[in-house]
Amino acid sequence: MLSTEEIINIMSKQGLRITDQRRTLAKLFAEAPGYLTAKDVYEYMGQKYSGLSFDTVYRNLRVMQELGVLEQIVFEDGVKFKSHCSQDHHHHHMICLQCEKTYPIAFCPMDMTDMPEQFEVIRHKFEVFGYCKDCRMQLGNLPADEQAAAGKGGDGKEGPALHLKTSVPVAHTEYAAGKSQ
Ligand SMILES: [Zn+2]
Ligand SMILES: [Zn+2]
Ligand SMILES: [Zn+2]
Repeated sequence: MLSTEEIINIMSKQGLRITDQRRTLAKLFAEAPGYLTAKDVYEYMGQKYSGLSFDTVYRNLRVMQELGVLEQIVFEDGVKFKSHCSQDHHHHHMICLQCEKTYPIAFCPMDMTDMPEQFEVIRHKFEVFGYCKDCRMQLGNLPADEQAAAGKGGDGKEGPALHLKTSVPVAHTEYAAGKSQ
């Protein structure tokens, strides 16, 4: 995830005026552990800046997403935002539905997609939703042998939990128009 300073730098390099509000937004996203809804952000910002409208907050989120400092994901209960991964090469995400932790994956399915004739792709999205190892342990749905393996040591390393792929229902995949990375 991008740090407060990285977010501010990217915004200012692209000509966005760095107001006190935008600085606060940068800090909020850099420090947030998971995704935030526009309402979360509005409530937080409202405590600091009285009279701030929801529209202003939402417009800032849109701008920050367009500049590539925020990533936007559509969950079942609505659109949420988080600080963009610091990874700058093309990648996709596996997202835990419980803790909303995001695991970047390098695999891109575009080359394997059957394409309508003459279709020009401008951008694409590919997102996979499921449950991460920690949440599966909590929910008690890891198979016993993996439960044991996961229990001892636990390297704490970040990365996709590879054994997820067979046993977790893929709630949602899409190839749709929308902002790619
Ligand atoms: Zn990412
Ligand atoms: Zn999780
Ligand atoms: Zn891709």
